[in-house]
Amino acid sequence: MSNLPPCPQCGSEYTYEDGTLLVCPECAHEWSANESDAAESGGKVVRDANGNELQDGDTVTVIKDLKVKGSSSVVKVGTKVKNIRLVDGDHDIDCKIDGIGAMKLKSEFVKKA
Ligand SMILES: [Zn+2]
Repeated sequence: MSNLPPCPQCGSEYTYEDGTLLVCPECAHEWSANESDAAESGGKVVRDANGNELQDGDTVTVIKDLKVKGSSSVVKVGTKVKNIRLVDGDHDIDCKIDGIGAMKLKSEFVKKA
């Protein structure tokens, strides 16, 4: 009868629309239809340690000392990293750091400046 998505909480198919929300009658879970659309489109969102969305070209600050793989250098907490590039993978930020060079960072260890 409808093509509404199943409840993300309990998997029930008997969901219905209530305004902009979807409601599950079985577990009373309510969620936004728009949010589930975004999740289904597969758009990857990279977020910093505070949950803010990061984008190509952003400037971020490192929030903990990070060892540089294969060298004795350390990227100190508070280091500003300009013009980041988001990439796929475990380390999802590609960047260049003054005095160190090109390297990859994990988004969970930075925050948006
Ligand atoms: Zn449910």
